[in-house]
Amino acid sequence: MTQSQQTPRLDEIRDLDRDDPLAAFRAKFVIPDNTIYLDGNSLGAMPQAAAEIGRRTIEREWSQGLVTSWNAAGWYELPRRLGGKIAGLIGAAPGEVVMTDTTGIDLFKAVASALALRPDRRFIVMEGSNFPTNNYVVQGLVQLLGDNHQIRFAEAAEINDAIQDDVAVVCLTHVHYKYGHVHDMREITSRAHAAGALSVWDLCHSVGALPVDLNGSGADFAVGCTYKFLNGGPGAPAFLFTARRHHNQAIQPLTGWWSHAEPFAFKRDYRPAAGIARMLSGTQPILSMAVAEAGIDVALQAPIETVRDKSMRLGDLFLALIGETCIEFDLEVACPRDARSRGSQVALAHPHAYSIMQALIDRGVIGDFRAPDVMRFGLTPLYLRYEDVWQAVQVLREVMETEAWRRPDYAERLAVT
Ligand SMILES: *Cc1c(COP(=O)(O)O)cnc(C)c1O
Repeated sequence: MTQSQQTPRLDEIRDLDRDDPLAAFRAKFVIPDNTIYLDGNSLGAMPQAAAEIGRRTIEREWSQGLVTSWNAAGWYELPRRLGGKIAGLIGAAPGEVVMTDTTGIDLFKAVASALALRPDRRFIVMEGSNFPTNNYVVQGLVQLLGDNHQIRFAEAAEINDAIQDDVAVVCLTHVHYKYGHVHDMREITSRAHAAGALSVWDLCHSVGALPVDLNGSGADFAVGCTYKFLNGGPGAPAFLFTARRHHNQAIQPLTGWWSHAEPFAFKRDYRPAAGIARMLSGTQPILSMAVAEAGIDVALQAPIETVRDKSMRLGDLFLALIGETCIEFDLEVACPRDARSRGSQVALAHPHAYSIMQALIDRGVIGDFRAPDVMRFGLTPLYLRYEDVWQAVQVLREVMETEAWRRPDYAERLAVT
């Protein structure tokens, strides 16, 4: 690990916080005392406004309005209305996005739709090291389709070569969940189109963290979750984008009543709705979805270029401080050092990463562990201060120096890491 020349001193770090154009956003969230929260890329912090929305939805709309709330409180419109808001965060038009289901289910729908638009092609290009649920979902789809399709796994450097004219769909996650590298959405989508393939982008680690321009990139389909950098709440529904040019042809396989042209005509046979509504399936978890609007609204207030700028600085500061104060420990930087090719997270590898992370969490520095050996530190610019990064690295240094991580109970694996 090399030592950085220009690591700021603590007083300079405090100046960065004082001059931070996003400083006021921290007060819009609940951050527990004595906690440095570096896991907003797994579950974002709770927006203050979420509690009020939750109370209103339960105490007024559900308990008093009952079934009339589907109309009167706008429950039925929520997937499209919130999809319209999310569209503004990902370079899509309002009628191209619905909030619905989970990322895995939406990925199933998107890839199935895309495959149906390229019936004479066999291959789906995916990054094998991606978050595994994406692989599992597409493997299940391939099986369901009678094994007429096949996944062609390619790691980042191999993707261009993997996109040949036998490819139906290129299905990638924009920012890698573990190592944090960012794919060039525009370039890869162009390459896919030049080969006659369609693109499906997963924005789980992008939305709310860095600029995304789906239509500017020519993307065909996209999915993403809202409980990470959008701070939508545990298990908040995901979103699904379909470019308008595919709206009349694309058919997804989970053709439930919410995607029917006339859901309340209760006809026997299926007929797809016009527009993005055909990507819906059925009744949604309204409590979760309603509450998620709080986080989406906060994200809409924050200029994404400013968010990205701070995110890159937080990451650079983290790596510089590690380089300066943790040089003698066996920590390996497992994310890109160049901020422009790194998402809103830092990854460090160590053979005892799990135990070290448990020791950090015990000391109020909450990140997470990703097998086999990576500590992930999510950097959420809306509620993280530069001084928090400084403090986190001090705690890490103390844990390494004292070998506090060797306490046997830190090695005991919990169900969720
Ligand atoms: C977080 C994440 C998911 C989550 O999927 P769920 O269906 O919400 O469990 C999927 N894919 C990627 C790449 C993720 O980062």
